[in-house]
Amino acid sequence: MVSSVVNPHRITLLPGDGVGPEVVAVGKEILLEVAGRFSLDLELDEGVIGIAALERYGDPYPEETVAKVLKSRAVLLGAVGGEQTGKKDYAKRPEAGLLALRNSMNLYANVRPVQVKDALVPSSPLKPHVVKGTDLVVVRELLGGLYFGEPRGRERNAQGEETAWNTMVYSESQIERVVRKAFDLAMDRRKSVMSVDKANVLEVSLLWREVVTRVHKDYPEVSLSHQYVDNCAMQLIRDPLQFDVIVTENMFGDILSDEAAVLAGSIGMLPSASLGAERTLYEPIHGSAPDIAGKDVANPVGTILSIAMMFHYALEAPEAAQCIETAVHESLKQGYRTRDLPAEGAKIVGTREMGERILERIQRGGRD
Ligand code: NAD
Repeated sequence: MVSSVVNPHRITLLPGDGVGPEVVAVGKEILLEVAGRFSLDLELDEGVIGIAALERYGDPYPEETVAKVLKSRAVLLGAVGGEQTGKKDYAKRPEAGLLALRNSMNLYANVRPVQVKDALVPSSPLKPHVVKGTDLVVVRELLGGLYFGEPRGRERNAQGEETAWNTMVYSESQIERVVRKAFDLAMDRRKSVMSVDKANVLEVSLLWREVVTRVHKDYPEVSLSHQYVDNCAMQLIRDPLQFDVIVTENMFGDILSDEAAVLAGSIGMLPSASLGAERTLYEPIHGSAPDIAGKDVANPVGTILSIAMMFHYALEAPEAAQCIETAVHESLKQGYRTRDLPAEGAKIVGTREMGERILERIQRGGRD
């Protein structure tokens, strides 16, 4: 039986696979530096997940790691997964460890902020006047929908033809808790929520829309609109400035938040926080990027900004979060970039050096 008493000082690092260990190593130095500067007493622990866990324990999220995670105030994850092998045994895939991790921590809301600061405008594939000033948050439901719905499976019939199926399923309470999170976030921002669904086709979306409309009654100051997911995919690149908080179900949010990431120039830039009632997890939104792993070229900024979110949400130290964000933006303004963010006059550096530049600015208090 795994003990689940949370130690308020314990942070568990799960570097995972591919570029995960590289970006988490950089993040760890920043985490320790900032904790020291703000006199926060933290105990760091480390666990295995994904491919390394499969190799050692035959399980992508072994009991040893579950025990560390459940005792922790917060978890920092690198990435999980490798080359796509198309392996059929789903439970033995490294990504199954990721879903099991989220499930064990009961993380139902994934919060992904996307900001395009002026220094990043030239790196965006969109025209400057379209993207400049983008400041939105995607709130993605994380424990329901197609990724968890039962029944799921595949079967071969007597004629030898295979059929596969997944189930998109949501209960009212599952929808309500994530939607409340989105409205709460909007109250601290520009007070505008866009709920995204496919209510013209799916019963699940009709229920989603009814619950959102009901919850909205408790937030009269927030303006609420609805968009179909296909339209939202288009609007995100046509006019991202129209969005403040976007809330949507699991798979729609998975796809839209990756699309939104490109607004900031690279998927390597973006952080995320996954929130539950008791526990929280922080991770860059990118995957394990096996194509660039081990080359010291991965962008560590998504991980570093995830640590800023950890200071904000889990450690309730908003000034520590701000210190990290300022240091990141100052380094970008100085022209430091990893190679995924080419820009005229940029000083292209590796993963470790990008981390060192940001660390230096933190040590100088975020100033140049
Ligand atoms: P990916 O995010 O790993 O890579 C997509 C592209 O973005 C690649 O070209 C990669 O080189 C680039 N990229 C990603 N992170 C970068 C960074 N920090 N700096 C610079 N460039 C970066 O997505 P994918 O290729 O679809 O998936 C690879 C593996 O990661 C798969 O096994 C997938 O299941 C897994 N995955 C894991 C997570 C997670 O751990 N949360 C998320 C998505 C995908």
